[in-house]
Amino acid sequence: MSHSINRRDWLRILGGSGLAAGAAALPGNRAAAQESGFQSSIIASNKVQEGRANPGIVDGRVIQPQRELPVLHTTDVLVIGGGSAGVCAALAAKRAGADVCLVERYGHFGGLWTGGLVLLILGHIVTGGKQVCQGIGEEMMRRLDKMDGAIVNRRRGANPTVDAEATKYLMVEMVDEAKIDVFLHCWGVDAIMEGNAVRGAVFESKSGRQAILAKVVIDATGDGDLFAAAGAEFEHRSHNVGLVTRIANLDRVDTERAKLSPKPRPLGGVTPVPGVNWVNMRGPEVDGLCVATLTRMELNHRKFIWQNIQRTRKVPGYEQVYLTETAPQVGVRITRVLHGLHTLTREDLRAGKRFPDVVGVGGSENGQHDEWQIPYGSLLPRTVDNVLASGRCIDAEMRMADLVRLIPNCFVTGHAAGVAAAVCAADDCMPREVEVAKVQKLLREQDAYLG
Ligand SMILES: Cc1cc2nc3c(=O)[nH]c(=O)nc-3n(C[C@H](O)[C@H](O)[C@H](O)COP(=O)(O)OP(=O)(O)OC[C@H]3O[C@@H](n4cnc5c(N)ncnc54)[C@H](O)[C@@H]3O)c2cc1C
Repeated sequence: MSHSINRRDWLRILGGSGLAAGAAALPGNRAAAQESGFQSSIIASNKVQEGRANPGIVDGRVIQPQRELPVLHTTDVLVIGGGSAGVCAALAAKRAGADVCLVERYGHFGGLWTGGLVLLILGHIVTGGKQVCQGIGEEMMRRLDKMDGAIVNRRRGANPTVDAEATKYLMVEMVDEAKIDVFLHCWGVDAIMEGNAVRGAVFESKSGRQAILAKVVIDATGDGDLFAAAGAEFEHRSHNVGLVTRIANLDRVDTERAKLSPKPRPLGGVTPVPGVNWVNMRGPEVDGLCVATLTRMELNHRKFIWQNIQRTRKVPGYEQVYLTETAPQVGVRITRVLHGLHTLTREDLRAGKRFPDVVGVGGSENGQHDEWQIPYGSLLPRTVDNVLASGRCIDAEMRMADLVRLIPNCFVTGHAAGVAAAVCAADDCMPREVEVAKVQKLLREQDAYLG
C-alpha cells in the first residue's frame, strides 16, 4: 500500500509548468477526446476504492475501524499550514539545511494574509518607528516592493498594505526557489505518535487518508490543530470572527455630489490597486472551532456585506462603487492557544523582559510599544514532544495574543520554529533539548533580529 513520493515522482508531477504539468501526469492522454479542445481519458475503469475501512454502526454508535495508511512522503521537517508563519518556517528550515515538506489545506499560500484578505501589515515596528521584523518576513516585503503593484505605504514607521495575488505569487516563487516539497489540498487531521513524540501527521485529501512522516513537526495551522491532536495542553478561546472584503471604483466617486450626504461606512483602506480598498470586519465574538458557528458566520457576513454595499451605492456620488471580492477564508483570529513552557504576558512587554532563549522580537500596531522578546519556550508544548507551535497559536495570555497574532510577529515565530526544527533534525534531538545558542546563531545568520 505504501507509495512514498520520491524526487523522480516529484519531477514527473511538477516537471512542466502551468497547465501542461497536470496533463503530463495522466497516462493515455494522446488518445483523449478532443471536443472543443478539452482532453479527457479513462485512468481506470470499473474501479473500486482501495484500502477502505468504512465506519460502521455498532450499537447505534459510529465506529471507525483500524486500518493501515499509505505513507505519502517522509521528510526531516514537516510544516503543517502554509500561512505567514508556515511559509517562513518552511523557508527557514530549508535554508538551515533540512529537507522540508509544507502541507496546506487550501490551494494557495498565505493563510489569513492572502486568503483572508488581511492586507495591512501591522506589528513590524516599535517606538520611534524602528523595524524589528527582519529576516524572511522583511525579505518578503523587499521582494514585494520590487513587484509592480504589489505593496503600498512601505516606508519607515508606516504600515504597508499588500496585494493578495502578488503575495500568493511571491510565496510560490520563494517556496519553488527553495525546492521545498509541497502538498496543497491536504487537511491535517491527526498526529502520528511514537510514545509522547509526534512523528508525523495524517492528511485527508482527494487522494484519501495518507501519512507524512518527519523527524520534527511544526504546527503552523493557526488553530493548533496538530498539537491538539497530539494531546498537548492548550487554552480554547473565543474571539471576533469577521469576513474581509475588497470594494472597487472608489476613484470614480463623484466627489461634488458625495459632499452633500454623510459618507457611507465602512469604506476601508487603500490597496496597491487604484480605486480598490480592503474593508476589515471585526464580527461577533464566537468559537472559531465550531463548524456550525463558522457556517452561520459565513452566511450572515455574506448577507450583511452584500446589503451594505447596496446601501453604499444608493448614497449620491457612490453609485459606481461595487463589491469586487469577499475573502475566500473567514477571518478567525484566535482559537487554540498553546500551553507552552513560557506564557508571553503584557507584563513581560511592559518590563522589557529579556529571555536567554530569545528567538525573535515582536512589534506593535503603530509603534506604540517598545520591542518585546519572544522566548523559544512559547513555541514548545509543556508535555508533548517533537512538535513546535508558530504563528497566532503560540503561548500568550489573552491581552498579549492580539499582538502575537499580527502578521510580522507570525513571520518571526515561523522563522524561529523553522530554524529550531532544522537544528533538531540535524542534531537528532527533541525540540526541548535543542542547543538554543545554535538556533540563535543560525537565526542571526538568516538576518533575524533578536534584540
Ligand atoms: C479579520 C482579521 C483582521 C486582521 N487584521 C490584521 C491586520 O490589519 N494586520 C495584521 O498584521 N494582522 C491582522 N490580523 C491577524 C493576522 O491576519 C493573522 O493572525 C495571521 O495572518 C495569522 O498567521 P498564521 O500563519 O499564524 O495563521 P493563518 O494565516 O491562519 O495560517 C494558517 C494556515 O494553515 C492552514 N491550515 C489550517 N488548518 C490546517 C490543517 N488542519 N491542515 C492543513 N492546513 C491547515 C490554513 O489554511 C492557513 O493557510 C487579522 C486577522 C483577522 C482574522
